[in-house]
Amino acid sequence: MFSIVLGTNNKKKGAELTELLAPFNIEVRILADFENKIDVVEDGTTFLENARKKASEQARFLKAWVIGEDSGLSVDILGGAPGVYSARYAVLSEKSEKSEKISEKFSEQLNASDEDNNRLLLEKLGNTPLEKRTAHYTCAAALADPNGNIQKEYEQYCRGKIRFEPAGTGGFGYDPLFEITEYHRTFGELTLAVKQTISHRARTMRLLIPTIIRIASENS
Ligand code: IMP
Repeated sequence: MFSIVLGTNNKKKGAELTELLAPFNIEVRILADFENKIDVVEDGTTFLENARKKASEQARFLKAWVIGEDSGLSVDILGGAPGVYSARYAVLSEKSEKSEKISEKFSEQLNASDEDNNRLLLEKLGNTPLEKRTAHYTCAAALADPNGNIQKEYEQYCRGKIRFEPAGTGGFGYDPLFEITEYHRTFGELTLAVKQTISHRARTMRLLIPTIIRIASENS
């Protein structure tokens, strides 16, 4: 069976891609499945830059086909924040309050908990009315061959609004706060099946699937 690596330690992201590729008999492994691994510094200023970097560096190290993925939430009224810093939002905010240097922020690569990130987001939005709490998720994905060369890349989005309080326990990250415009429900309240149809990651990965299938048939 052809196997492809999703360059993340996030089991939920791995599960989402595994389900999308299951009908094609393609195995998905994530970094947590490997004993020997490297950490890639996510210092890009765009989702695509980070996705390419994760794909190339992990592919060269693992000598495998790797999908580098970078995703996050951008809130319009916050100027696109947290953006590429979505996973580290609360950690960075704490550090900038202590006015530490930017270089230190990147060197640590520490992610904050989902709860802390969500709490900070609600704090930043304060009493902003719902119609002004517009936001979107972005997912960029790049596919690298075992030499680290990028063979394909895509970026897709999912639009919504940030609720005043969390609702639901599904998904991860900002999902309990992210209300999908068409459904009037958060990703926390919707089933994984719905998320797999309309999410930024599902949309990006679906675009990559034909290339993955072609590569799988050429390499097995
Ligand atoms: P990454 O793993 O470095 O790409 O960081 C992604 C971060 O963006 C996650 O830790 C979440 O905070 C946020 N994020 C990305 N995709 C989703 C999603 O589908 N639901 C909720 N949060 C997400």
